[in-house]
Amino acid sequence: MDFAPLELSADTHAFWDEVRAFYSEHLTEEMLEKEHREGNGFIPSLQLAMGARGWVFPGFPVEEGGAGLDPLRASLVEYEMHRRVGPLLPLFGPIHLVAATVRVFGSDELKAHVLPGVARGEVLMAFGYTEPDAGSDAAAVKTRAVRDGSEWVITGQKMFTTGAQLCQYSMVTARTDPDAPKHRGLTMFLVPLDAEGVEVRGIETLGGERTNFVFYDGVRISDMYRLGDVGAGWQVASSSFAVEHHMPNGTGGLEPIVPRLNEFGWYGVLGALVDAAVEWAHAPRSDGSRPIDEPRVRDRLAEAALDRELMSVTPGPYVRVSTSAALIRDAADLLDMVGPTGVLPRGEEGAPVGGTLEWIHRFAQGTSIYGGTTDIQRNLIAEQLLGLPRHRGVLDRRS
Ligand SMILES: Cc1cc2nc3c(=O)[nH]c(=O)nc-3n(C[C@H](O)[C@H](O)[C@H](O)COP(=O)(O)OP(=O)(O)OC[C@H]3O[C@@H](n4cnc5c(N)ncnc54)[C@H](O)[C@@H]3O)c2cc1C
Repeated sequence: MDFAPLELSADTHAFWDEVRAFYSEHLTEEMLEKEHREGNGFIPSLQLAMGARGWVFPGFPVEEGGAGLDPLRASLVEYEMHRRVGPLLPLFGPIHLVAATVRVFGSDELKAHVLPGVARGEVLMAFGYTEPDAGSDAAAVKTRAVRDGSEWVITGQKMFTTGAQLCQYSMVTARTDPDAPKHRGLTMFLVPLDAEGVEVRGIETLGGERTNFVFYDGVRISDMYRLGDVGAGWQVASSSFAVEHHMPNGTGGLEPIVPRLNEFGWYGVLGALVDAAVEWAHAPRSDGSRPIDEPRVRDRLAEAALDRELMSVTPGPYVRVSTSAALIRDAADLLDMVGPTGVLPRGEEGAPVGGTLEWIHRFAQGTSIYGGTTDIQRNLIAEQLLGLPRHRGVLDRRS
């Protein structure tokens, strides 16, 4: 991404230098290498350092723990981080979106209890929507919440709760009225993951990321942890889905504090893919020839570089689909271009450009799945932006 056409002021350039210096100090190569190995999605010391400057929520007012930055400076804080980490810190997105949901739908008591710690970088939060039988059909959840005086008792199973091994809270959709129509019997809760009856089990993914099963076995939580009205869980969930999908409507007031992290992250990966392939193409072979001198290699690099440029100007609802498609397509093509050694992973002797192409090829596959699949995003674009007839399958929310 090139900010040059914006003609940044000297002050903004100075701020950008400050941002770069901050990340050079707090986001080192060693940290990124460790994250590559562990796939935790999060670097605690970085989050604390960001919290100390108000940069966990850079655009938030100072009195709410943010830095009160204007949108351009707030974007520079996020852009510079994602340029360096690529997709390595996926937990940053859920933390922002759950915090935004608490801010809009939580009681004053809950906000005071949770948000200052999030802004300081001490408290982390995950999404707990998906269940074994409720993915794209997110309203099909079977996890139950039963009221008991001033408490709720939660029982059920979530899966793919990314970051649960590190987070203090998960935002959970639960069925509170099994007799109500599917979308009306749900309520949203912020469940403390250190509560008795919570069990987190890891899932290792093809892309090297860790995510989790989370089991809730009679977990008792105070009514303070409810987000929105009883029975209004689908409205709360829909607001956060709309933000995550970058849809212009239905965000319920959540959007102002949620940055475009997926795009920065995936766009950064596309950039890393092109850079790695260009580096490979310039390296001489044993006979002294260089791949970059072959027209077919230059063509393939140009195709991927063109995708990278296109993604930088594609608007939100569309870029999520097109960046994922470009990543999957270009990673496969450039890996093929490199030849058989391309499949050697990071750490293996002889892996071209440190195994970057092989890693991005594996990582790319997940981008079409999490945060709602790109098929679902296509449905939303068709219905809500292009005005095509409503999909009559699992997304039908009239019931
Ligand atoms: C690495 C990773 C991290 C994740 N992190 C989280 C997280 O932190 N929190 C969380 O709650 N969830 C998370 N998820 C879950 C993710 O959101 C779901 O996997 C996703 O919504 C798809 O649901 P599903 O896996 O049940 O697939 P299904 O819904 O069963 O879909 C299967 C296939 O059918 C297609 N399909 C289904 N319905 C339709 C339709 N109406 N129209 C067209 N095509 C359709 C889908 O596109 C897909 O190709 C994560 C998933 C992964 C892989």
